Amino acid sequence: MALDYHALLNPSQAAAVLQTEGPCMIIAGAGSGKTRVLTYRIAHLLEQGVDPFNILALTFTNKAAKEMRARIEKVVGPAAKSLWMGTFHSVFAKILRSEAERIGFPRSFTIYDTQDSKTLIGQIVKELELDDKLYKASTVLGRISAAKNKLVSVAQYINDPVIRQDDEAALRPKIGVIYQQYQQRCFKAGAMDFDDLLYQTNVLFRDHPDILNKYQNKFRFVMVDEYQDTNYSQYLITRKLAAKERNICVVGDDAQSIYAFRGADISNILNFEKDYPELNVFKLEQNYRSTKNIVWAANSVIKNNQAQLRKDVFSDNETGHLIEVIKAASDNEEGKLIAQSIYEDKMNLHLSYDHFAILYRTNAQSRAMEEALRKLNIRYKIVGGLSFYQRKEIKDLVAYLRLTVNPNDEQALRRVINYPKRGIGDTTISKLINSAEESNHTIWEVVSNADQFLPARVSNPVVGFAEKIKSYTVVAGKEDAFEAAKFIAKNSGMIEELYADKSIEGLSRYENIQELLNGIKEYVDDPEREDKSLGAFLQDIALVTDADTKDAQQDGEAVTLMTIHSAKGLEFRNVYIVGMEENLFPSQMMITSRADLEEERRLFYVAITRAEKKLTLSYATSRYQWGNLRSCEKSRFLDEIDPQYLNVKFAAGPAIGESPVQHVFERRSNLVAAPVRKTVPTKYVAPADFQPSDTSNLQAGQRVEHAKFGFGKVATLEKQNGTVKAIIQFEEVGEKTLLLSFAKLRVL
Ligand code: ATP
Ligand code: MG
Repeated sequence: MALDYHALLNPSQAAAVLQTEGPCMIIAGAGSGKTRVLTYRIAHLLEQGVDPFNILALTFTNKAAKEMRARIEKVVGPAAKSLWMGTFHSVFAKILRSEAERIGFPRSFTIYDTQDSKTLIGQIVKELELDDKLYKASTVLGRISAAKNKLVSVAQYINDPVIRQDDEAALRPKIGVIYQQYQQRCFKAGAMDFDDLLYQTNVLFRDHPDILNKYQNKFRFVMVDEYQDTNYSQYLITRKLAAKERNICVVGDDAQSIYAFRGADISNILNFEKDYPELNVFKLEQNYRSTKNIVWAANSVIKNNQAQLRKDVFSDNETGHLIEVIKAASDNEEGKLIAQSIYEDKMNLHLSYDHFAILYRTNAQSRAMEEALRKLNIRYKIVGGLSFYQRKEIKDLVAYLRLTVNPNDEQALRRVINYPKRGIGDTTISKLINSAEESNHTIWEVVSNADQFLPARVSNPVVGFAEKIKSYTVVAGKEDAFEAAKFIAKNSGMIEELYADKSIEGLSRYENIQELLNGIKEYVDDPEREDKSLGAFLQDIALVTDADTKDAQQDGEAVTLMTIHSAKGLEFRNVYIVGMEENLFPSQMMITSRADLEEERRLFYVAITRAEKKLTLSYATSRYQWGNLRSCEKSRFLDEIDPQYLNVKFAAGPAIGESPVQHVFERRSNLVAAPVRKTVPTKYVAPADFQPSDTSNLQAGQRVEHAKFGFGKVATLEKQNGTVKAIIQFEEVGEKTLLLSFAKLRVL
């Protein structure tokens, strides 16, 4: 039975669905049904008897394709399975698989992921004897990728005076040569990187008209969602494919163009009008997703952008809640308030956790949110990224910290013995492991005495590494967890390594390290915390870094956490946008020009318009940065929302520790039986003339006095790598493990 499109769609939407012939463009506001139109348009074509193999639909994510296919299947049945539908990369990888031989690649070509590409570039840089600090793999790959997305070939790259000038100004004149070698090596290896999937498709269609002709005949109907975020390479592919039948329908929203930094080009929309003078343009202005307040707020923000096509988006839905603004004293409090709000809304309104999303500008912000959600036992999933403690750079630094506290930690040792690179190759590592097994020593014992097991040339860097770790153990014995971790992050070379990487991913990794240090600083600054040692901190996060995370990541009802970039096209009942602060959102990196600021504002517009019923914006008045508490200014974007749509919840901004809200929160967390950390504050005050004793002859069973923990009795003493660990049962604070060489103890 045919669908009644007029019942399912408004008149403009229905017109766009029924206009199946000729070029169509729908550039319309958020939530106005663009994706819905595409979905029904495909269903309609199928109902009209069009073969599903003749329809190509390009989406922004594979997930979007899957959802669209499922919806179409509900309407038309299994025919939906045969549709060509997916991201540009997945669809054209499939086409290249059958045609690769025409451009000299094997059909079974390998697809290099970013890591493969970087490794190859690293090798080339080495072979060319270039400075690998200047020619960082990620920087070089970024240049090559940008070139490919503009279809700049190796020859063009090398001969273009503007490109040459840019590279010379950046002291990297050899990028062209690296690009050349990189392409040759990929070709020889029968491999394509991600950008090649589009670049080589263009080459294929350009050099082989018969193949282009074949696909032009095959894809009689071409559709593109999120058209505003296509790059030049993608634009050309669709233009070539549609050149014959001219049945192409693109939908998008210029106000939601947020990938300029990856080469997305808004002029593709303008070019589209030039390419197809017979274009049918459809206007959609009604937002079906959000309440009136949310739509009004979004409009009041986006009107501050100069570069935009005029649209008047309205909603016929209920007026709804005002937009809530939460002001918190710190990022941890921000996390707590949001976790609490989610918990309350879920309980009071009988919602599912699936109804909630927390959106942030940068990945590093997930830490405070994850920890707060965990404390209330709220399940969450991170979309398009890893949970904070699963990220590579965090695991690397945590490995250093673990090794500092326990040099025998083999996994940690293996992880960082040659990171950052210090010339300890895989062969050396295997030798160390074998020596340990043969001589019945731990790896650490072999590593710290490497000169006895390996020739000097090979053992020198290993001994150097062991010395480093030993010095960290000394620092950690004297300093609190934060000072120790900061020292280690710097001294190990990790900070320098990450700082030098100026790619978007590199920046994100650098921010994550900073965020881990911030978390440790907050940990040691907690006035109730007695043991501020690195060991205690690691103990505290052990659960978060391990099993817990797996639980939280499992399927099932869960709050969604993600960056705003990955939230495009999605919708949630309740949305929280966190970190609404200057320099965070808008991001500090992105506000050097008006165009950048406008892109940040579009990002904010995307974030706001994800919400269906309730939107909450939050910011913290202070945040740690490299261990210093900095005050933060609320984002200018908050002031751009007309105040009549806002409900500023905690305008008084309670200080940490005295917040009435926090008080409620603590009670609430008891109610849901979250593991609340209870520590007994110590009443002990050391006498002014406190003098530590010589503890070299300390015995189990002896009574001692500690400068901070008070009186106690030695339970056991344990010798390890030349240091002695004492487990002491203190009267007021309970059991503590102390390194005798650093503990301020008086033997009684
Ligand atoms: P975005 O710009 O965020 O990608 P969009 O324009 O693609 O949004 P859709 O996701 O297609 O919008 O639609 C937003 C919501 O409104 C969806 O839940 C959709 O099902 C619903 N919707 C759209 N049009 C109608 C309609 N005519 N009747 C009922 N619901 C509608
Ligand atoms: Mg959409």
